[in-house]
Amino acid sequence: MSSKNTVNATVSIRQFDTDVIIEELYNRVYDSMHDEEPQYDPTLNEMPRENKNDILDALRLYCKETHTQPNKTMTCWVCNEELIWGGDHDFEEDETHFDGHTMITNLSCPQCESYVEVYHGKE
Ligand SMILES: [Zn+2]
Repeated sequence: MSSKNTVNATVSIRQFDTDVIIEELYNRVYDSMHDEEPQYDPTLNEMPRENKNDILDALRLYCKETHTQPNKTMTCWVCNEELIWGGDHDFEEDETHFDGHTMITNLSCPQCESYVEVYHGKE
């Protein structure tokens, strides 16, 4: 893309919609805990894991109550409708589920009622 097609402008964080900021915050905290190569973020890098969990729990609760998804979207294997995020669960360290995965996310389809569980976060 040529530079003629871009515009540089100074924007304030106040101009972003709150739902965008909520999603960004969720993704930042989530990535700092689960991404193998987290973004450079001094605040999150120094934050204790339990504080990050508190933030994620609060945002997940918010998303559950408002039926919004905190991060990526995923479509139904059966009917291609967009799945609704139901919740994430961190396995405790002494839980040895499913070959080393540390998290489970569940999603459901509003159209055909399929139910999906995703095991992830393998370390
Ligand atoms: Zn479906």
